Amino acid sequence: MEIKIERTAAPKEKPTGALGFGKVFTDHMLVMDYTEGKGWHDPRIVPFGPISLSPASMVFHYGQENFEGLKAYRTDDGRTLLFRPYENARRMNNSCDRLCMPKMDEELWVECVKAAVREDLDWVPTEPGTALYIRPFIIATDPFLGVRASNTYYFMVILSPSGAYYSTGINPVKIYIETEYVRAVRGGTGFAKCGGNYAASIKSQTKAHEEGYEQVLWLDGVERKYIEEVGSMNVFFKIDGEIITPSIADGSILPGITRKSCIELLRNKGYKVTERKLSVDEVEAAAKAGKLEEIFGTGTAAVISPVGEIKIGDEIITINDNRIGEVSQWLYDTLTGIQWGRIEDTMGWTVEI
Ligand SMILES: *Cc1c(COP(=O)(O)O)cnc(C)c1O
Repeated sequence: MEIKIERTAAPKEKPTGALGFGKVFTDHMLVMDYTEGKGWHDPRIVPFGPISLSPASMVFHYGQENFEGLKAYRTDDGRTLLFRPYENARRMNNSCDRLCMPKMDEELWVECVKAAVREDLDWVPTEPGTALYIRPFIIATDPFLGVRASNTYYFMVILSPSGAYYSTGINPVKIYIETEYVRAVRGGTGFAKCGGNYAASIKSQTKAHEEGYEQVLWLDGVERKYIEEVGSMNVFFKIDGEIITPSIADGSILPGITRKSCIELLRNKGYKVTERKLSVDEVEAAAKAGKLEEIFGTGTAAVISPVGEIKIGDEIITINDNRIGEVSQWLYDTLTGIQWGRIEDTMGWTVEI
């Protein structure tokens, strides 16, 4: 499919200084239409800017929306790499399936992302640790207030240069176990990367911040006993040499691409990695026995986020003296090494633009 390009007549100044996250957008964006019967059509790159939608558009009322998040990394020798973009394409299709939204050919998806980045290639930041954050998303656009699946959609890709996540070094986070609210339940939309999941999570995040914690540790929605995720990251525990991460088989956990990559890297390295149910009680018992060695979150934004402190009931448990653990550090170095092209990509994970 040909992607038409309408270049901006007024390119913006590139930001100087610290970039932060998600505040600055590049000169262009990609838009593609879906119409029932016609499929995805008319992909085009246009100047970044507001879009016009009917206030009756279904996305505003019933939340038929899902998104992805990935990054373009600039290597020392000037190449630009994506990390496992076909995984994002597949996951978006799984989200679409759950929300009765139209799927897209994975090649077309990756082509759209590449084309958008290629157009704004000079927006990929070059400072260490920085990257161009890519946000593809789909919204339902039928102007209709009845509840059903929309017949028309927009697929869009917007781009935002983002700063180094750890500009002052990796600081382990403090997490708080949420016992009042849940993020997802079996049979719900936990595995789909949809805005609705986030809308429902903000209350807990706010509460955690008020109590001086950076992230929420989510428990399962049924028994409120088993660990699911940390904030918008998957979570790993190292207990007595074994690496454990909650199983995604029930569909209530977001299947992270960083999670999957960590499991593959760790297994290749010879670690025992188990995907299973892990209860808070088990974590607490391991901590008491001196066997809780590391906890870390995984996600595209931070890559690896070590957990230094966890509050269980009235008890505060410090992990690895509030320092980054050996496995967390190794995974961080390996993944970021592959992403920024400093380590040879023997897994075939990167895609050059
Ligand atoms: C996106 C996301 C993750 C992490 O996924 P990655 O593909 O590793 O970035 C984890 N949990 C939730 C809820 C997410 O939305």
